[in-house]
Amino acid sequence: STTDSEVVKRESESMTSKNLRSNAEKFEFQAEVSRLMDIIIHSLYSNKDIFLRELISNASDALDKIRFLSLTDSSVLGEGDDAKLDIHIKLDKEKKVLTIRDRGIGMTKNDLIKNLGTIAKSGTSAFLEQMQKGGDLNLIGQFGVGFYSVYLVADHVEVISKHNDDVQHIWESNADGNFAVTEDTENEPLGRGTEIRIYLKSDAAEYAQEDKLRELVKKYSEFISFPIYLWASKE
Ligand code: ADP
Ligand code: MG
Repeated sequence: STTDSEVVKRESESMTSKNLRSNAEKFEFQAEVSRLMDIIIHSLYSNKDIFLRELISNASDALDKIRFLSLTDSSVLGEGDDAKLDIHIKLDKEKKVLTIRDRGIGMTKNDLIKNLGTIAKSGTSAFLEQMQKGGDLNLIGQFGVGFYSVYLVADHVEVISKHNDDVQHIWESNADGNFAVTEDTENEPLGRGTEIRIYLKSDAAEYAQEDKLRELVKKYSEFISFPIYLWASKE
C-alpha cells in the first residue's frame, strides 16, 4: 500500500517528466493532426499492440531509404556501427520507458517539424472520418498516420533523430496540441537514424513486460528484412 505522500511524490515526478524542455522551439500541430492525436490518446481501443507494428514499419522504411541511397553512394552509410542496418528495441522496466531505435535515414530538424506534426496528409481527414463512423483503429497505417498510434500507449513521446544533412534534434510531445523541437546536446550521438522514446501510460504497463514485448516483436518482425534486437533491463 502507498501513503499519500508517496502518491503526491509520484504524481509530481510524472508531471516533471511531461514538461517539454523549456529551451525548446514550440510548434502547434496542424488542426486535424491534433484532433487525431486527441482521439488516439483518449481511445479505449483494446488492441493497443498495433503501435509497435507501426513503429517497426517506420524503422524499416527508414532503413530501406538509406539502403537505397547507399546503392549509388556507399559513403552515406558511414563506418562501424553506423553502417549496420538494424533495429534495437530496449525496455527499461523500472522507468517504464520503451525505446525503438533504427539506423535508418533519420530526420533533419525540418523533417521532424513537417513529418511529425505540421503537414497534414490526405489520409488524416479520411482516417478521422472513418473513426467517426466507428471504423477500426487497426487500419491507421493505411491512412499514412501510423506514427500517432504511439499515443495509444504513451502520454509523452520523444523522437531523437540524426540525418546526414543536419545535427541531432529532439522532437517531443504530450499530445496536447503542441510539440517542441530542440537541438540535442544531452543524449549520446546516434550516428545516424532515429530513436523513439515511449513513456508508457499507467494503463499500458503490460508493454513493460519482457514476455509480452518478445511475443509482439516476433509477430511484427516476420516481414521485416532487417535484424531486430530486443533488450530488457533487469527488474
Ligand atoms: P507513413 O509511414 O505512412 O508515411 P507515419 O505516420 O507512420 O506515416 O510516419 C510519418 C512520417 O514520419 C514518415 O513518412 C517519415 O517521413 C517520418 N518517420 C516516422 N518514423 C520515422 C523513422 N523511424 N525514421 C525516419 N523517418 C520517420
Ligand atoms: Mg508508417
